Amino acid sequence: MSKIALITGITGQDGAYLAQLLLGKGYAVHGVVRRSSHHGVSDHRLHWLKIADKVTLHDGDITDLASMIAIVQRVQPHEIYNLAAQSFVTSSWSQPLLTAQVTAVGVTNVLESIRIVNPEIRFYQASSSEMYGLIQQDRQSEKTPFYPRSPYAVAKLYGHWITVNYRESFGFHASSGILFNHESPLRGTEFVTRKVTDGVARIKLGLAKELRLGNIDAKRDWGHARDYVEAMWLMLQQDTPDDYVVATGETTSVRDMCAIAFAHAGLNMDDHLVIDPALYRPAEVDVLLGEPEKAQTVLGWRAKTSLEDMIREMVDADLARLDRSAAKS
Ligand code: GDP
Repeated sequence: MSKIALITGITGQDGAYLAQLLLGKGYAVHGVVRRSSHHGVSDHRLHWLKIADKVTLHDGDITDLASMIAIVQRVQPHEIYNLAAQSFVTSSWSQPLLTAQVTAVGVTNVLESIRIVNPEIRFYQASSSEMYGLIQQDRQSEKTPFYPRSPYAVAKLYGHWITVNYRESFGFHASSGILFNHESPLRGTEFVTRKVTDGVARIKLGLAKELRLGNIDAKRDWGHARDYVEAMWLMLQQDTPDDYVVATGETTSVRDMCAIAFAHAGLNMDDHLVIDPALYRPAEVDVLLGEPEKAQTVLGWRAKTSLEDMIREMVDADLARLDRSAAKS
């Protein structure tokens, strides 16, 4: 009998790549989707990966416990991956309470649905390197104290600890992956890597002249989402649940990441990059650098894709996408 997985946030970047990975491993893949009145289901990422007709979607919302219990009851999954969140840091200052309801309390709803329906279900929580915020150690590992710097990071910290708590309180097989920034052609354009690759592609095609960014001195440990979803799956295959940092172990400034994209398109960055103070954040996370040793030794996981290769793949994908939409109009 094939294993059954339920993914919240299946229409997001990680949900789509994880669904693709699990389908390849023979899983029956189900997803929770939030229907909105004007957009319908935003399943374009599942279409892009050509898996939209291979997954089963269920109407629901992690902020609505009744809908989660009903879905878990119906699907009877072996594994639940909680990837649903209000995940954009900047929006968490304009919608702090919504962020708390979805990104923090939503986690407890999913855990409660497991407790009520079947406590044997294995659980993955998408924790975030943003929880380290004002970093307390140069390299951040599972042992590094947290210091969140945005309502998003505060909410993720709650989600992380409630996962640990259900593991310790009820013996759940619940694991938390502290993933550092992970990107891909499926990343939303609100995040800086995709904003850059989309912007560079527009400039290259003559659709735009400039790219406006905020703090380009910020540094991040960026990996590829396709690699990172493998770590999620590996965590749930272990005999013992635990928490793991998932990162590349290298950090790069926004400026240097941006330079890779401009160079790949054969453009001069200084001719197009504009710094816009309006894009600075009320509180910044200056630098993140993960220590993925535990994931490497225990899970046998490694980041495979370099930042250079990933940014080039993203620029090429954006050039192709914009070319296609220009051809259509
Ligand atoms: P985050 O680490 O989850 O906040 O991921 P983002 O991709 O949104 O931001 C990464 C870093 O890029 C942060 O330090 C931002 O302040 C910085 N940054 C600079 N300019 C921009 C911009 O125009 N948009 C975004 N999203 N981030 C920017």
